[in-house]
Amino acid sequence: MPIAAAERALLSERRPLTRDEVRAVAALPLDELPDLIALAHRVRLEYCGPEVELESLINAKSGACPEDCTFCSQSVRFHTGVDVYAFLDLEQVLEAARATRVAGATQFCIVVAVRGPEERLLRKVVDAVHAVQEETGLEVACSLGLLTRDQAERLASAGVRRYNHNLETCRELYPSICTTHTWDDRVETARFAKDAGMELCCGGILGMGETLEQRIDFAFELAQLDPCEVPINLLDPRPGTPLEDRPLLAPRDALQAIALFRLVLPRAWLRLAGGRERVLGELQSMGLLAGANALIVGNYLTTGGRTAEEDHALLDALGMPVADGPGEGRFVVDDRGAHSLPARSPASTPVQLGGVGVATRGGGRFR
Ligand code: SF4
Repeated sequence: MPIAAAERALLSERRPLTRDEVRAVAALPLDELPDLIALAHRVRLEYCGPEVELESLINAKSGACPEDCTFCSQSVRFHTGVDVYAFLDLEQVLEAARATRVAGATQFCIVVAVRGPEERLLRKVVDAVHAVQEETGLEVACSLGLLTRDQAERLASAGVRRYNHNLETCRELYPSICTTHTWDDRVETARFAKDAGMELCCGGILGMGETLEQRIDFAFELAQLDPCEVPINLLDPRPGTPLEDRPLLAPRDALQAIALFRLVLPRAWLRLAGGRERVLGELQSMGLLAGANALIVGNYLTTGGRTAEEDHALLDALGMPVADGPGEGRFVVDDRGAHSLPARSPASTPVQLGGVGVATRGGGRFR
């Protein structure tokens, strides 16, 4: 009765699951997946409530990255035909932020394809953060690669609310995914971001060849960092990258993984990100019933996504309100997992995200 034991632990005893308990749930035949999904949904409602957080990305500096992450079309080492451009003009960033606001999202993430930001780039990002906050009031997140402690503190002082730095995959698999920096380098940046006072957004990509056991390890490794948000990308193999021939994850495996991540990370914003359209197809709503409670709206870094209008319609159909923001509508989760529900937001006007550089190119939130 692994599902019943997990339910008792999470919902009655309010304690985290052990790795063995999660392994036992994961070992159930996929025919029993509906039971796992139902539990993940109850855990999400109990710990986080029904709201769904929306975010859009801007690929503010694309391509020519010196790193060799095998999933990434923005690495200079692979011939992928991805657009290459330097940091966008401030007006282009602002245009994307305005479109984000109109689309009903509360989070706006500035992403650049670099190993880590050099001084000139960091200054431009800080200027953009100030301008976006002043003009739109959006909560601004950044994804700028590896940081020093000093850089993390400067970003926090500039008002960056959340820093995205994914571990991408489990520690064991990482050396086969990237050789130009280590998994521990990534953990260090995640810790710098938290130490500096920013919320940590830290997840990865499923379907890069990891076993189910490694997927569970990955969820527990993420939980150790206690991230506020966990983006789950589902590998959408990019032509020209070393992973271009990797088969897509089966939808049932993806749903199982999303549900398992919710059991291991009950309080996080679990964000469905790149690859959800291609891998889940018509089962996207199931992702939101399997424990996910956040979406990226609009396009990804090097691939197209759905329109904001389609996602708003999906959330309406599911009866899941969009989380308010900025600031308002956040759950205050206490040590026992109790949360206060935010007031409902007025219905947002569905619109198509547009504007120069609104994540017009992207392979998913692949950083
Ligand atoms: S994932 Fe990030 S660090 Fe790795 S190659 Fe792509 S842009 Fe560079």
